[in-house]
Amino acid sequence: MQYRRLGKSGLKVSSLSFGSWVTFGTQIAGDSAVNMIQTAIEAGVNFFDNAESYSGGESERIMGAAFSELALPRHSFIVSSKYFWGIHDTPHTKFTLNRKYLIEAVEQSLERLSLDHLDLIFCHRPDPDTPIEETVWAMSDIVGSGKAHYWGTSEWSAAELIEAYRVADKHHLRAPVMEQPQYNMFNREKVEKEFAPLYENYGIGLTTWSPLASGLLSGKYVSGVPKDSRAALAGYEWLKENLTSKEANEKVGRLQAVASKVDSTLSQLAIAWCLNNPNVSSVILGASKVSQLKENLAASEVVDRLNPEIIAEIEEIIS
Ligand code: NDP
Repeated sequence: MQYRRLGKSGLKVSSLSFGSWVTFGTQIAGDSAVNMIQTAIEAGVNFFDNAESYSGGESERIMGAAFSELALPRHSFIVSSKYFWGIHDTPHTKFTLNRKYLIEAVEQSLERLSLDHLDLIFCHRPDPDTPIEETVWAMSDIVGSGKAHYWGTSEWSAAELIEAYRVADKHHLRAPVMEQPQYNMFNREKVEKEFAPLYENYGIGLTTWSPLASGLLSGKYVSGVPKDSRAALAGYEWLKENLTSKEANEKVGRLQAVASKVDSTLSQLAIAWCLNNPNVSSVILGASKVSQLKENLAASEVVDRLNPEIIAEIEEIIS
């Protein structure tokens, strides 16, 4: 496993990490969750991604129980949570980044995880109804209180981030350290174009999500929706259109041939392609089975096989 600095911070995160969206609480719990975390740890993963909203808080409970079951020393892992959607049905705790919500939501995550601090906390989406100043102040205070070590954002625009840096600078507050955007062969615009000025000017680090575009880039949707897949789950119908797109699956078929050339699976090729971007600090993997996770973790070994000809072949297919 390779470890990369989280942007310009001193924190080193494993270049492959593991997240629990969709899986923990919906597809996985108890011993299966423990096995997943154990598998990741054995491969050298030190960063685990979570969010308040994943399975309405259940995902944090399951992950916290797995950490306890494995008796992992607190210094040995980095864990995150994310805030915006809210899990309590009140007007001031939903779709918001207000100060009261953020401070109380972090406390509640800690209870569910049975931890006394988080390592990374994210504003899960931007909130046009709360001034960025209020949010930056609250996140900076949470870090100052010791309840979290670093704060960042997810799916904010470059302009919103620049405003956050301006506010932090003006008031001598802690600034965002990391962003969590989607990044995969089919979604590259934000990471490669929009954020381009942020890496050098602000030293932002990236923990990127959905390296397989929810499983599309594993090749499993080329001939329909497998019964045990994410697209077949109740409540995830909205993903189906993308996952079964004829145009996307035609590209997936062509990418499969490139994967064979480098002696890897398509999933490994897709993940290695994300790792190949030096601005990415950590690629967050998702998996519903230990076998998938093991396959995906081996993507680290494929990065060196991505020579300029292979990259050009991929580019020709996906652009
Ligand atoms: P992926 O795009 O890699 O999709 C993971 C899913 O694809 C698995 O759960 C599994 O689903 C399927 N899969 C994975 N590996 C294989 C394989 N080798 N062969 C076949 N199928 C495979 O990642 P996620 O979308 O799960 O995102 C990763 C993490 O990123 C999340 O857990 C979360 O922590 C974070 N995230 C953050 C977001 C944000 O807004 N900040 C948004 C989304 C995710 P199945 O078996 O059920 O088909």
